[in-house]
Amino acid sequence: MRYLILSDIHANRPALEAVLKDAASFDMIWCLGDLVGYGPDPNECVERIQGLEHLSLAGNHDWAALGQLSLDHFNLDAREANSWTREELWPSTREFLESLPTSMVQDDITLAHGSPREPVWEYLLDAGLAAINFRHFSTQICLVGHTHIPIAFVLNEENARCYPLVPPYSGPLALDPHRMILNPGSVGQPRDGDPRASYALLDTDARTWELRRVAYPVEITQERMRARSLPRRLIDRLALGR
Ligand code: ZN
Repeated sequence: MRYLILSDIHANRPALEAVLKDAASFDMIWCLGDLVGYGPDPNECVERIQGLEHLSLAGNHDWAALGQLSLDHFNLDAREANSWTREELWPSTREFLESLPTSMVQDDITLAHGSPREPVWEYLLDAGLAAINFRHFSTQICLVGHTHIPIAFVLNEENARCYPLVPPYSGPLALDPHRMILNPGSVGQPRDGDPRASYALLDTDARTWELRRVAYPVEITQERMRARSLPRRLIDRLALGR
């Protein structure tokens, strides 16, 4: 199977469309959560994913938009954007988001929004935290999002060392022989200094993980955010990838 791996779309429809076009052919989407929050088109993004063969997880922003998490957990800009999102959600979008699990195992691969230990909240930003998290899932591979930064953590079981593989990669990563935690980065709000949408293609037959970046019309998303009076800092950061 060829899975299109998306995470942190954050209601950014132009970025989502660019990714779907660039990925071209895939059997199914696995979406690792945070479909909404920050961006201007929460309902349209959810509807687009619903129309495609997919499995999705809930992220912290999805829960906040549903009122399942207090907005006190978020910084001021995120809080403001999330309050706006709450008001905007169509009943069908709410129903969809409410149905999403926070982690699952599919095709012998573990999926979580943040981490296998704390699926909704934990940020796997370094090898130390990743090393701990390898004890919290039993499959060889785990996929996570949440940090908006594409990275791979590899566990070498012979010497019990965990190390990060920071992109760009020279080509698709081989999934074998080690255990790995893989993060595709964010479709709708990248934070690694590259404003292009980030995603991955996981091929479970070829056993490869291919990380990809694709440019999208950032200014269209920014314009739509301005029209909705979303916070200035959230608008500006899209052009910076920060
Ligand atoms: Zn996110």
